[in-house]
Amino acid sequence: MRKTYHLITGFLLLTCPATLPVCSAQLGTRTQTVKDSTAIDAATLNRILQKNSSFFKQGKVADYIPELGKVNAQAIGLSVVNRDGTVVSAGDVQQKFTIQSISKIIALMIAVQEHGEENVFDKMGYFGTDKPFNHFANLETMGKPLNPMMNAGAILTTALIKGKGEEPFAKILNMIRFITKNPDINYSHAVYNSERETGHRNRGMFYLMRNNGLIIGDGEEKLNNYFKQCSIEITVEDLAKIGFFFANHCVRYDGNKQYQNTSLSQLILSQMLIAGMYEFSGEYARTVGLPSKSGVGGGITVSVPGQIGIAAFSPALDQHGNSLAGYHMILDLVQSRNLSLFY
Ligand code: GLN
Repeated sequence: MRKTYHLITGFLLLTCPATLPVCSAQLGTRTQTVKDSTAIDAATLNRILQKNSSFFKQGKVADYIPELGKVNAQAIGLSVVNRDGTVVSAGDVQQKFTIQSISKIIALMIAVQEHGEENVFDKMGYFGTDKPFNHFANLETMGKPLNPMMNAGAILTTALIKGKGEEPFAKILNMIRFITKNPDINYSHAVYNSERETGHRNRGMFYLMRNNGLIIGDGEEKLNNYFKQCSIEITVEDLAKIGFFFANHCVRYDGNKQYQNTSLSQLILSQMLIAGMYEFSGEYARTVGLPSKSGVGGGITVSVPGQIGIAAFSPALDQHGNSLAGYHMILDLVQSRNLSLFY
């Protein structure tokens, strides 16, 4: 159930669902409309975007996946889904980029829906990390991935999703299409091929987990589904809608409650908070203080629990693999509105 705040002043009863901007105030038979004064507007986003638009010069576009190295480093975008589901954006809103590791939260959602949390976390940990996203971490020592946010855990999460061949990938793609209400979303074959051809570290993790009995089956189909999910192309607006969805108990930005699930969103937000930005997560929790997930395509999605979704995009990354301008735009927005969980 979504939070509902009741404000009783004399005879005035104000009922305001957390995700709605307009509250109807009932006084006798009369109703009046109160606008959400916290809504973020495009002018605010534009100002923040302009201020941070040079940060890409200090970062580096990911080129360990050769196809990613070809993107325009100067592209930049910032988007918010406000409480009422209205989307406001600034910058390159039409620019598509690959979702990369942000797909891990969708894969986690589906695996937990299908198997239950206990059965998924039987095979991996809830641990935070001081390790980069592609680190083997305790795969070799404890035999299980640290968490579902790093590559090893995410490869396993996807391998757990039921279905033959490409079906698990199709479930992830369809869930992203549902959350964003964008049926045109698809994956980049060029990025997928590039990942598959060069992803030998990921392949190493995959085979270790097969050796440990965590992944069952022949061939590399299950690993290919992971590469494919990372290659899904989205826009910064799509990404803000994903942030909104998990911020609001898996309720879509237009109010669709088909997947509403508080326990599931709590699980995913907690993983985003402790490991969504990899080894930078602790420092990020100190400065931004919100569940977030980054991808090496340059996207970051942020959930302000019970409130809004934020997304930033800029392909030049810092040494942790997080978007540099994206981080600074989020930091500015969050600080200017006191959105940190710990404010
Ligand atoms: N596809 C990328 C990889 O597996 C995802 C990493 C990321 O976005 N941090 O290396």
